[in-house]
Amino acid sequence: MRSSVSLWGVSIVAVAAGSSYSCQPGQACWPTQQQWQQLNQALDGHVHKTIPLGAPCYRDSSDFDEGVCASVQSTYNISLDRVSHYGQTFWQNWETCGTSGCSLLSIDPSVELFPTCSLGTLASYFVDVREASHISATLRFSKEHNLRISIKNTGHDFAGRSVGPNTLAIWTHNLSKMSFHRNFTASRCPIANGHNIGELGAGVLAGDAYRYFGEHDMDITGGYEESVGLAGGFAQGGGVGDFTARYGLMADNAIEFEVVTADSEVRVINECNDPDLFWAMRGGGGGTFAVLTKYRVQLYPSLPIHTYRLVVNISSSDALRALLTLHAENQIIWSDALVTGGTDYYVNKASFGVVHPYPDNGTKLKEATMAFFQAVSNVTGLTVIENDYTTYDNYTAYTSFSIADARATEPAGISSLLSSRLMPRHLFASPSSIASLVDAVLHGIETAHNLINISATQIVFETPLSNPDVDRKTSAHPAWRDALWHVINVAEWEKPPASATLKNVSSGFLDMLAPAKALTPGGGAYMNEASYEEPEWQQTYFGDNYPRLLDITKRYDPDHIFDCWKCVGWRGEQE
Ligand SMILES: Cc1cc2nc3c(=O)[nH]c(=O)nc-3n(C[C@H](O)[C@H](O)[C@H](O)COP(=O)(O)OP(=O)(O)OC[C@H]3O[C@@H](n4cnc5c(N)ncnc54)[C@H](O)[C@@H]3O)c2cc1C
Repeated sequence: MRSSVSLWGVSIVAVAAGSSYSCQPGQACWPTQQQWQQLNQALDGHVHKTIPLGAPCYRDSSDFDEGVCASVQSTYNISLDRVSHYGQTFWQNWETCGTSGCSLLSIDPSVELFPTCSLGTLASYFVDVREASHISATLRFSKEHNLRISIKNTGHDFAGRSVGPNTLAIWTHNLSKMSFHRNFTASRCPIANGHNIGELGAGVLAGDAYRYFGEHDMDITGGYEESVGLAGGFAQGGGVGDFTARYGLMADNAIEFEVVTADSEVRVINECNDPDLFWAMRGGGGGTFAVLTKYRVQLYPSLPIHTYRLVVNISSSDALRALLTLHAENQIIWSDALVTGGTDYYVNKASFGVVHPYPDNGTKLKEATMAFFQAVSNVTGLTVIENDYTTYDNYTAYTSFSIADARATEPAGISSLLSSRLMPRHLFASPSSIASLVDAVLHGIETAHNLINISATQIVFETPLSNPDVDRKTSAHPAWRDALWHVINVAEWEKPPASATLKNVSSGFLDMLAPAKALTPGGGAYMNEASYEEPEWQQTYFGDNYPRLLDITKRYDPDHIFDCWKCVGWRGEQE
């Protein structure tokens, strides 16, 4: 059987071969052993040859080791364990390339997925960077040898942008320091001085940030799952979570960054210093403009977190339509109350995880959702099986629940693809627009179900309701600013299907967006959680920010040392 990613593997190789940084192992430009050793010495022993996570379990691998294999197998699906290795991606389909890879079967890691172990999409060498100067030296080395660079943090990217075959990888995982500044002085920029500023190293994991800033009685605008890299692709692509409705995207809350630009210079950038680069890195995507080392972000005094969990069994398509209609009819009420969260829709079940960070005892959340519950209870074909309100003292207490939930529902090491669309407020304004909106979402849920066994449609209502960003201070897609729903169709699989099946699923997921796109001309999708196949990706991921973003990347990275899949300036398949 051919690997699940044969179609993606072809494209990735095409990019590498066509770009200016295209040296391959075996070519004269490829560094000699002695040159790798010299780089390693210069970088305090932090240069490593890549060992894929599954390698200790492959008998043909020089890294075969039964003891280490047992340990890899026992934690193969645990995200926090996976991210502590360079040699993996969260979604297995992105670490394999055609028939090349070294993965294990996620549902039974005693099974090897390939006859032999090879690197797949992983870089040949990676630098486990510990300070900005390591990145500067790596970029100089890459230029000297014409090596393509990849930047990897956790490897969570839904388009495999953090890996690339035959690249030299900058791995930011161990840039994991954090600090809290009650009074903050920005670098040569009095307008950026402020209070309650958090500093995250590029490799800080979400769960660690929630706990650390929680100890200072502060909330940070992070996401849901504990192993996402907040300062990496998450915030550089926008970053949405439980506080987005109240405080905006994480990119909206950026104060200052330390970055290393393509010319190897370490810069502290904010609204005053390198304002264009600062703007671009507030939503224009990771892996594109510079390597970020430190992210300084506005924090907020800790709030109680109120939650509402509603789980409904659905017996027919009509009942599902009725539920979606009630959800859409109530969304403006929820959004106006800054009630946030998301719903997982299946053809026969829906699970609402509604969240309200708010300084009361939970009354406002109950007021906003009671009518919805009453209406749902009265619909024939809907059976409520859970209906619970819970209040947590603070976000840390809440995440002890949400992290456990994500561990159970989002195992690492399986494969996934998405398609998505941001749905604007005007679609929620009248019965006829709601009917069209519901038709479009229902089409996605039912088509996905017919295409692949494991599918769901998530309606995420974490949108930056209270930050219209009228001054366009961030480069996140402008469609965020009046979106009420971020609709994401999700396909997952454990065992690689035949490549024809996968191609069918992949194009089917893109095609199923047609009704949603027809309702949102000129609209877009969240670049971090979208179909990697979007044909008009410039408009879909970046909207009318694209020309300015392109100009900035040309200025800061004229030689395309940072090239990634459908990132700004991507020269892709045509080369
Ligand atoms: C389980 C799971 C849950 C998620 N939940 C949410 C959520 O609640 N909200 C949300 O908004 N998103 C969520 N996402 C999507 C997430 O934001 C993206 O996958 C994001 O790209 C992850 O960033 P990373 O740095 O962790 O991943 P990586 O795959 O390591 O990096 C992603 C991109 O950023 C680049 N990059 C990483 N670090 C740097 C750096 N220091 N400098 C420059 N470029 C860098 C990489 O090159 C790559 O292009 C989730 C993803 C997963 C897998």
